[in-house]
Amino acid sequence: MPILNNVDRNQTQAGPSISGSEELPSYSTHPLCLSPNTDHTPDNYEDLNLEFSPLIFSAMERHLHPDLLNATREFKVQYISNILKRYKPDDSPAAVSFRDYHLNIQSQYEPLHKELYTMNAEDFFVPDFVKAVKDNTEESYRKIMAEPLSGVFVFDMFQQTFCQMLLSEVENFERWAQHTKNKIMRPNKINKFGAVLDDFGLKSMLNKMVEDFISPISAVFFSAVGGTTLNSHHGFVVEYGVDRDSDLAFHVDDAEVTLNVCLGKNFSGGELYFRGVRCNEHIDSNAKREEIMDYVHVPGRAILHHGRNRHGAKVTKSGHRVNLLVWCRSSVFRQMYKYQTEFPDWCGECQSQKKERRRQKDAANRLETSMTLHNYDFPLQLKALSDGIEHVDYLINRKLQLNLVKGSLCSDVFMSDLTKLLHEMFNKYWRDTYMVMTLVVVMVIFHFQPIILHISFNFDQHSS
Ligand SMILES: [Zn+2]
Repeated sequence: MPILNNVDRNQTQAGPSISGSEELPSYSTHPLCLSPNTDHTPDNYEDLNLEFSPLIFSAMERHLHPDLLNATREFKVQYISNILKRYKPDDSPAAVSFRDYHLNIQSQYEPLHKELYTMNAEDFFVPDFVKAVKDNTEESYRKIMAEPLSGVFVFDMFQQTFCQMLLSEVENFERWAQHTKNKIMRPNKINKFGAVLDDFGLKSMLNKMVEDFISPISAVFFSAVGGTTLNSHHGFVVEYGVDRDSDLAFHVDDAEVTLNVCLGKNFSGGELYFRGVRCNEHIDSNAKREEIMDYVHVPGRAILHHGRNRHGAKVTKSGHRVNLLVWCRSSVFRQMYKYQTEFPDWCGECQSQKKERRRQKDAANRLETSMTLHNYDFPLQLKALSDGIEHVDYLINRKLQLNLVKGSLCSDVFMSDLTKLLHEMFNKYWRDTYMVMTLVVVMVIFHFQPIILHISFNFDQHSS
């Protein structure tokens, strides 16, 4: 079964675009200027029937790219409208119901533990964790962390009292939703239970947690995958056990860095398993032995990993397990990734393929060197005795030989087997050719021997 790309429930398509403006200069090549051009007198738009206020068009015109200031009024209307449409609220039924859901919660939900809604490091975290982040060095983090699998970090993070408070706050929210007949919107496409903490007021607390605690750690350990530029998050709890989700399908997160902390309660099973970091291209490739790990959750203990490290959760066999998940994202990293032409270094499969290509190239280079130095000197010597045709043959043969060697080393089994056979046949032919060449040399030497003897004889006569 192909691996799932787990995205949160709000996500539709990536990135806004200026639709219908392909023939126009685009926002990416002609962006708005930060400062208005006060020398420019904007057009008047008041006689037009526009979707937005004509005053907005006049005001925005002063911010247009210098090349567009004197474009036609029709062009400017279309260009500015396209930009404004990007910020217009989404009026789809799903978006409207999502806004109503939020408004309901904001106006009606009464938090149980108000102290949870403001970040308070001393009350939330264990002291060693607070100290490590305060010191903010790789050494300080390594002191409190284990790295059981490359790029997967495990450490004690939350105090038990915080875990209890958060659990009871989630239960309180669920009771409220049931009582008021508000259907809870689930955190993502594959969890049928759980709730989004951002939905019932914990967004700013989690923002602060990401900014002050997760970002510094990510900047040290996940700088290659956007860890230095995290700027948004999706925070939620998931619930497993009887009458809840039983397990979690194999997937990757819609996150650059994922924080996963077990909040409790008593349970057995539910191990988290990892199968290696992959780019989109290689998402279904096999895991290597060194990428495989099963992790047993402990309440209060966090696990921090690259969101694209493929993982899943085994069945929670008994009890009730609740985990806090914070998907940390970097829009800068995503933008850069879109324009990346080479496969990324962080994907285990890309790395393996690069290594294999380098190995093949080295092997072919070594073989070429050894052929030049040792094995096929004979034809070059023969060239000195003949008119040069053999030398041309030698170069062609050597090239063919080299290509066959490269082919026999390639990762495609069919190609490799086929070229191995050709290579063997070629070698046999080459050995036979040696015999013919050897005969030629012998014949040449015999052919010239009478003349050599004659010259030698004459020389002897002259000198005597
Ligand atoms: Zn890859």
